[in-house]
Amino acid sequence: MATTNDELADELIKGGYLKTPTLIEAFREVDRADFVPERLKKDAYMNVPLPIGFDQTISQPLTVAFMLELLLPQPGEKILDIGTGSGWQAALLAHTVGDKGRVIAVERIQELKEMADRHIAGYEDLKDRIEIILGDGSKGYEEEAPYDKIIAAAAADEISPAWKEQLKTGGVIVAPVGASVVIINKVDAEKFETKEYYGFSFVPLISD
Ligand code: SAM
Repeated sequence: MATTNDELADELIKGGYLKTPTLIEAFREVDRADFVPERLKKDAYMNVPLPIGFDQTISQPLTVAFMLELLLPQPGEKILDIGTGSGWQAALLAHTVGDKGRVIAVERIQELKEMADRHIAGYEDLKDRIEIILGDGSKGYEEEAPYDKIIAAAAADEISPAWKEQLKTGGVIVAPVGASVVIINKVDAEKFETKEYYGFSFVPLISD
């Protein structure tokens, strides 16, 4: 069992979940312990979801690694992150998109949004790349659209039409649908190609 952040990254690499050098670097630099409640810091490097309050969790590391490897965030991209929770995934994304990129993160629970803001404030080089919006991410976030990529951490029964609309042509959505992860490529305004990976577990996407 991993007892340091580097050991957690090593475990994800060894398991075949983490492959891309920029993502590996992000997992090493963004310490998961900075995103979990004080009493759970000792468990931060376990490959399990952990409670962060309000019946929500910081996602399981292997799921985050798997979904980010599908998304493949690139330097300079603008990414919409739905379901910010602890802010861990938003920070990983911000690390990967670099200083020319941006992460717009949406969280519906005010206390979690404020908690994610506090966690991210500790990362001097990342904080200006991330904006956390309080709201219902099931509608996307029109004000900053279009996005190069969109990722969600909570599951709905279908992919939101608003996300498809707010995505650039050539862009990618990675999101849970039921107990699957789907990757959707936007070929043009009307044409989307979808691939599905079964066997995951997610908290529900709650529409207000
Ligand atoms: N990526 C997060 C992390 O690193 O901690 C995982 C967060 S948790 C698995 C999913 C989050 O989605 C919860 O914080 C929940 O409040 C949020 N959520 C659920 N429905 C939402 C919605 N419609 N809009 C925005 N956030 C939502």
